[in-house]
Formats: sequence, structure tokens, C-alpha cells
Amino acid sequence: MSWEVVIGLETHTQLSTRSKIFSGASTAFGAPPNTQASAVDIALPGVTINKRSVFARKNYFYPDLPKGYQISQYEIPVVQGGSITITTKDGVKTVRLTRAHLEEDAGKSLHEGLSQAASAMTGIDLNRAGTPLLEIVSEPDMRSAEEAIAYAKTLHTLVRWIGICDGNMQEGNFRCDANVSVRKAGDAKLGTRCEIKNVNSFRFLQHAIEFEVRRQIQVVEDGGTVEQETRLYDPDLDETRSMRTKEDAQDYRYFPDPDLPPLVIDEAWIERVKADLPELPVAMKARFEKEYLLLPEDATALTSTRATGDYFQQTLAELAGIPNVPYLSQSPDVANAKSVANWVINELGAFLNNHQTDIENSPVSPAQLAQLIAHTGPFKGTISHKVAKDVLAAMWAGECGGDADAIIVARGLKQISDAGAIGKTVDEVIAANAPIVAEYKAGKEKAFNSLIGKVMTATKGKANPSQVNAILRKKLGA
Ligand code: ADP
Ligand code: MG
Repeated sequence: MSWEVVIGLETHTQLSTRSKIFSGASTAFGAPPNTQASAVDIALPGVTINKRSVFARKNYFYPDLPKGYQISQYEIPVVQGGSITITTKDGVKTVRLTRAHLEEDAGKSLHEGLSQAASAMTGIDLNRAGTPLLEIVSEPDMRSAEEAIAYAKTLHTLVRWIGICDGNMQEGNFRCDANVSVRKAGDAKLGTRCEIKNVNSFRFLQHAIEFEVRRQIQVVEDGGTVEQETRLYDPDLDETRSMRTKEDAQDYRYFPDPDLPPLVIDEAWIERVKADLPELPVAMKARFEKEYLLLPEDATALTSTRATGDYFQQTLAELAGIPNVPYLSQSPDVANAKSVANWVINELGAFLNNHQTDIENSPVSPAQLAQLIAHTGPFKGTISHKVAKDVLAAMWAGECGGDADAIIVARGLKQISDAGAIGKTVDEVIAANAPIVAEYKAGKEKAFNSLIGKVMTATKGKANPSQVNAILRKKLGA
């Protein structure tokens, strides 16, 4: 029997505001429990809020919600419709959005440390109560865990890109609930969904969905039926567990909040926000591919965050401004872009990765990186690629104030491109390695590389490799 997987995601993005959605209390992360929960956030008796509202009350009981209802938007959300375009190994796909609505967050249950006590307890921290969220709800358009991850990552990039959410998943500022169901291939009707909560990384999201798909198929194949319920993902056991049966919307007794005024967004406001929007990741990626002929995977890497895209473009602009760099007359400057992409993604990327830091905190600025790139192969050719990587390490460490020119001079790294000097070293290497030369002459190509290696060692890696290659071949009579 072949099964089709159906997934819809609800994503809570914590908006990067300093205060709560309906009170002035701070949203800062990590404060001692209950020090940032204002009377309004938790509705202490006697508190009144504003007058009228199209915000709705979603009523349910849970210890982290002392008000007994969550203020959300129901009939008229701030956003309806829309879509997100995702790319997977199978190609490009559009996932439709149902809605995006504003709501307040609830508090948090604290189990850690407390459950070890003699009388196991759960603490309640209401600091998070009233923090603004934008809940973005997708249509059930995804058909695999891979598509769900691609969707979640694309959304994650987007909300950080436009600066509405810091995307910190560890702190819970970007949370996805995955709704998963299965149906027989060809069935028109959707299967019963389970909603999985508590997934705080993309890897866990993938595992949770994969586990849940296997579980549901097993249930149905064993002749059972899937119950609509809320399930919790346990990363330690890599399984989902039933948490509670799932309410349907009518069970929440939604009604318009009588205390809040309607949220009014006029045309001028929409236009202002539109005009302020930066170039979005999809558009930037397409432009990099078209203008600079970058490979799709490179364009994707360079637009993984807005800071990366900006860094790449600044480096490119800086490189174009350095005098005596060849290739500059080309416009659009495809060759420059290819080099800069490689340096940003691979070489600088390795340092960022090793130091677990983001490009906005890179100790090497775009101007400094451009200065280094200008010394390499396709440009001035003052240093070899290998030496350039060492220079980058020195720049990262702050040597000579991160100035590539100064480091090259101070360390005496300038590439030897003097044919006479290289020829002399080649002669010495040939004279000192008669057996290897004989091997080469007997047809062993590997021996040639070994001789190149010896010349590079003798020049401390400073000889221009392509010149060494040509001179050595010539002298060996090849
Ligand atoms: P609720 O708050 O009751 O979970 P929402 O409308 O906020 O309701 O979210 C429902 C989510 O479940 C949406 O992302 C939707 O695409 C998804 N969904 C609905 N039906 C199914 C189904 N049969 N299989 C998988 N996902 C589904
Ligand atoms: Mg839900």
C-alpha cells in the first residue's frame, strides 16, 4: 500500500519588540521568573484594558494562562492568503498560506530542577505572557518532511531578513507546530491530523515528522484509526507522545475581545511599510544568478541571511574600487563575483563556522577581504591561494590591524613570479632528486607532482604555481 503524507505548519514568530503586545512590560529573555509579568499580561483581578476590539479571546484552561483566555485574532486576521516559494531537490514548489495573525504568547511551565525535588513540582514563569507573536499558518500543502523543513527554513530566513523576528529557536522565538496526517495515495479526503509541538530545531522538526508519519501508517495498517490530538516531540527518545486530545475551533468559544479597540491599518501605513522593505531573499538570489552568473547553490548560500548578501555585495564593490586590479572593466563583473563568492562562502565561511559566529560579527570587514582577494590568482597574483588562506587567518587574528597588504609585507609572503628565480630553484630541485626525475622520464606522472611539491617547499609556497609547472615541464624536456 502506498501512503501520501500531508503536512501543514503553524509557525509562531516572536516579534522583535521591546515591550509586550498589550502592556509595557519588557520582553527581554532570561530574566528571573515572574519579574516581567505585568498586571495586564496576567489579568490580575481589577485590571481593565482598553475598550473595544476585533482581537478575539480564545478560551482554554492551562496553568501558564492565568487569564483563562489568549488574545488572538480569529475571524479577521491581519493577513489572509499569500504563499511561500520553497526549493527542494525535486525543484521549486509553492506552499499557500492560510493566514497570519497577531496574538499574545502564554507563560512557560518550568520543569527543570523542580521535578527532581521530593514532591515533584512544576513552576510557572509568566515573563513570556503577553509577548507579541505573529502566527503564520500554512495550507496543508507539504508532502514530505523535507518539504516541511524547506518551508520552515525559508520562512525563518524571511522573518529575520525583514527584521521582525530574531529567529532564535533555542529561546523559543521561532516555533513550528507540525500538523501531520497520512492518506492512501489517490484519496481525495485528508486523513486525521495530529499536531506536534515542542520542536525547537529544524533537525528535531524533521525527526518528529518522520517518526509521526511512520507511527500513523502503522496505526492504520494495523486496522486502527488516528486520533486527532496534540503530541509532544521528545528529542531524547526521538518519538512523539500524546499530550492531550485536540480541541476544534468551536471548543475555544472564540469571541471578539470586548476590551480592545480594532486594529486599524490604513493604506498609507501599508505603502510606507512596502517602501521600507529591502530586496527580499528570493529576488536577491535570482539577481545574483542572473547578473553574476553564480551557481544556484552559491546564490542560495549568499542569501541565507541578509547580512551575508550585504557582505558579499560590499566586498564586490570594494574589490572594484581597488586600483590596478584586472577584470575590473567587465560589467557585470562575473569573474570578480565568482572569486568573491568563493571567498565569502568557503574561506570566510570556514572561519565563521569554526568560531560559531555570524558574518555580522566577522572581525574581517568586506573592505579588508576585498584587499586580500585583490592579491590572489585572477587579480594581481601577488600570492598563491594557499598563502592567501594563511593571510586570512592572520587577518582574522587581527595581525597588522587586519590589513592584508601589511601582513604580506611583514611576513615576506609576496609570490615569486620572477622566471629567473623560479628557474634557479627548479634546477636545484632537479639536481637533488635524480631518482624522481628518472621515474618521471619513465612515464610516471605522479613524479612530476612530487617535483612541483619540492619546488613549492623550497620557496616556502611563494612560487607562482602555474609558472613552476611550465618551467619544470620545459626543463624536463616534456
Ligand atoms: P488549530 O489552531 O486548530 O491547529 P490552525 O488553522 O491554526 O488550527 O492550523 C491548522 C494547521 O493544520 C494548518 O497549518 C493546516 O494546513 C493544517 N492541517 C489541516 N488539516 C490537515 C490534515 N488533514 N493534515 C495535515 N495538516 C492539516
Ligand atoms: Mg494548531
